[in-house]
Amino acid sequence: MPRLLRPETLSETLRALADGGDDTKLVAGGTAVMLMMRAGLLFPEQLVALEHVRELDYVAVEHDTVRLGALTSLRELERSAPLAAALPTLAGAVALVANHRVRGRATIGGCLCEADYASDPPAVLASLGARVRLKSLRGEREVPLTEFLVGYYETVLADDELLTEVVIPRPPRAARTTYLKYMSRSMEDRPCIGVAAYVGRDDSSRVGQVRVAVAGATATPFMLAEVTSMLDGALLEVDGCRAVGEAYQQAIEPLSDVRGSAAYKRRVTGRLVTRALEAALSSPRNGAFRL
Ligand SMILES: Cc1cc2nc3c(=O)[nH]c(=O)nc-3n(C[C@H](O)[C@H](O)[C@H](O)COP(=O)(O)OP(=O)(O)OC[C@H]3O[C@@H](n4cnc5c(N)ncnc54)[C@H](O)[C@@H]3O)c2cc1C
Repeated sequence: MPRLLRPETLSETLRALADGGDDTKLVAGGTAVMLMMRAGLLFPEQLVALEHVRELDYVAVEHDTVRLGALTSLRELERSAPLAAALPTLAGAVALVANHRVRGRATIGGCLCEADYASDPPAVLASLGARVRLKSLRGEREVPLTEFLVGYYETVLADDELLTEVVIPRPPRAARTTYLKYMSRSMEDRPCIGVAAYVGRDDSSRVGQVRVAVAGATATPFMLAEVTSMLDGALLEVDGCRAVGEAYQQAIEPLSDVRGSAAYKRRVTGRLVTRALEAALSSPRNGAFRL
């Protein structure tokens, strides 16, 4: 049986990580890590349970940014009225994760650190331009989420680092965001393909910055900045949306899994990127939708 530590503060947690080395595993909600231990895929010497570190459990909606404490549960995010008002697409996407029981335990920090390719929140956060704060006794750094996630179940976290906070810039009022989650097996499943779109717009309804992130197909949320940047400043019309969808379909190299073959996911990606952009442009409502 691994030794169990239950720190109550951030500094106690960082000390435990610094002393523990690479045989120490953090447990936030435990919805991923406990399953892996039960399956015999992980056998750490020491577990550091984070449930009593209350200082990392918050939603702070500020003028320019929204900050989420790493230990905030997905259920709290889903139920947060300030978050729903500031970032309705993120709040809506979180509500589409798994079921009440999982969301009640799972934390936003655990979700990002697990780095599972078939996850919803990372793609939405990537489309919103989120950054993450990492802390250790050696210091603190902030990195874009797109650089934090580097491969299948792989991040840039060092053994002694804790993800403490997710920082999301608040989109301008005219910007449009959407998330489309397509599940090929059941209504509680992970995404076969999920597409998150951010369309920056100014008051003249010209398009500003566009970011489109695809979940469920590749190791990390798939984004084609060189394609979406061509739309910057354009008057986006349906043809433009379709062209971006086609470019994503051409470029993506999906993994085949139980939710669909690579060829199937490729086609679904093309259709959903087009639909997500059309939805973002034509609908006055931002939000997340289950397909
Ligand atoms: C039945 C089921 C259905 C699911 N369906 C979906 C779905 O539809 N969509 C979806 O997106 N996800 C889904 N998930 C995944 C779920 O969202 C993740 O398991 C969850 O987000 C992980 O969060 P956690 O707090 O439980 O992490 P944990 O299991 O506690 O930790 C996960 C990993 O992150 C590390 N870690 C945790 N917190 C930190 C931190 N602050 N700093 C550094 N490292 C940390 C841990 O050491 C571990 O390696 C599902 C899971 C289950 C069990």
